[in-house]
Amino acid sequence: MRDNAVITYQHGNGLYVNLTNRCPNSCDFCVRSYGDTLYGNLWLDREPTVEEVIADIKAQDLSTFDELVFCGYGEPTERLYDMLEVCRFVRSVSDISIRLNTNGQSELLWGKESTKRFEGLFDVVSISLNCADAASYDAVCHSRFGPDAYGAILEFASNVKPYVGEVVLSVVDTTIPPEDIEVCRATAERLGVTFRLREFI
Ligand code: SF4
Repeated sequence: MRDNAVITYQHGNGLYVNLTNRCPNSCDFCVRSYGDTLYGNLWLDREPTVEEVIADIKAQDLSTFDELVFCGYGEPTERLYDMLEVCRFVRSVSDISIRLNTNGQSELLWGKESTKRFEGLFDVVSISLNCADAASYDAVCHSRFGPDAYGAILEFASNVKPYVGEVVLSVVDTTIPPEDIEVCRATAERLGVTFRLREFI
């Protein structure tokens, strides 16, 4: 890892875990496109091992945080099985709420069978939907899975629902036209998951 790279960091009342900088997307609005100028210490020259992540978490007092969040400067499910191992450790030592912030493409990365492995590990899976349809998503997020990514994200939202406490579909208010926000809200309702409109940071 880079000398000053962080594995965990505090944001609000959450302890955030930075597992990877890899991501199948290349979103137009991604903070990663600003290079080192924003959150530079979240760039990893080398991804931390599971043991290093667990050691870092062990060094924290989890009782002082409201939640543990897999987020960071990339897509956590690029390291799905490592992330699940870290979750199992956290579950074994704490009842802290665990949230995954994801682009929802883990089934594209790891296959549909992988989703049942989420069982009992996450309180919240928050999926950045970003757009109202496949063509817009492809134009803005540039997934390496192409236009098929959008449908797969919605399927993942539906598939993971039985295994986690809550599934959230989120959009950022400034990156989507108002009429598309309502389409996303309706999509979340149709899937029986929570809709969240987030502010652009
Ligand atoms: S999904 Fe997130 S990490 Fe990946 S490119 Fe988009 S904004 Fe960046």
